[in-house]
Amino acid sequence: MLHFDDIVFGPISSRRLGSSLGVNILPSKGKFCNFDCVYCECGWNKDGVAERVFPRLAEVEAAVEAKLAKAASEGVPVDSITFSGNGEPTMNPDFPEIIDAVIRSRDRYFPHAKVSVLSNATLVGKQAVAEALMRVDNPILKIDASTDELVGVMNKPTGAYRLSEIVEALKRFNGNFILQTMFLKSKDFDTTAPEALKGWMDIVRDIRPREIMVYTIDRETPDKSLEKYTVDEMAAFVQPLVDEGFKIQIRG
Ligand code: SF4
Repeated sequence: MLHFDDIVFGPISSRRLGSSLGVNILPSKGKFCNFDCVYCECGWNKDGVAERVFPRLAEVEAAVEAKLAKAASEGVPVDSITFSGNGEPTMNPDFPEIIDAVIRSRDRYFPHAKVSVLSNATLVGKQAVAEALMRVDNPILKIDASTDELVGVMNKPTGAYRLSEIVEALKRFNGNFILQTMFLKSKDFDTTAPEALKGWMDIVRDIRPREIMVYTIDRETPDKSLEKYTVDEMAAFVQPLVDEGFKIQIRG
């Protein structure tokens, strides 16, 4: 399974993001998340060996600053800086301050680089977390399922989770975020069964993200019974929303 041991990794070249630097503010050597998604590329929480020590603000700030300064002095381009890694980045207690520090370094060395955060959106009800997410160029926030029950089998929250509360909190973004949704099925569920798909589309109409990314499994997943969808199938699922004017990226 995929784990990152460094705070900053890359830059790696990607077709979508250009020259992209990754930032992992989760404990190293394992996974740390308040979801335990059946498709997680980091594996199941129970198999993780995370040290449960978050890198703190000063450490992250120094690591990002050093990496960006080095890239700038060597003429290495940086087009994007993306928070992802061994779990849910907003769980880091210094998340809001880290965001501000990374934005400051970005402005100093690569003012055109876009800062993105991949988050499962579980903590958007916390004002400081939501406001920090609103300060980055691309808050990429996850809603995979349309009911608490489906979230329960697909994302397996480790604590209290109410989809209706997440939806309410996301409305406060006024559409200024990217929604990320995984489409897949297993022996236990199908996120695109008619009821489930209709529920998800109603949520999309409610929260009105400026962009939507739908995707399906790509790498090894902890649950081996999962089945992916083709790009054509996913395109058909989201066609009603495209017809209504939503901007949707589909990744197979
Ligand atoms: S939210 Fe992301 S990191 Fe957490 S379990 Fe799901 S896929 Fe893995």
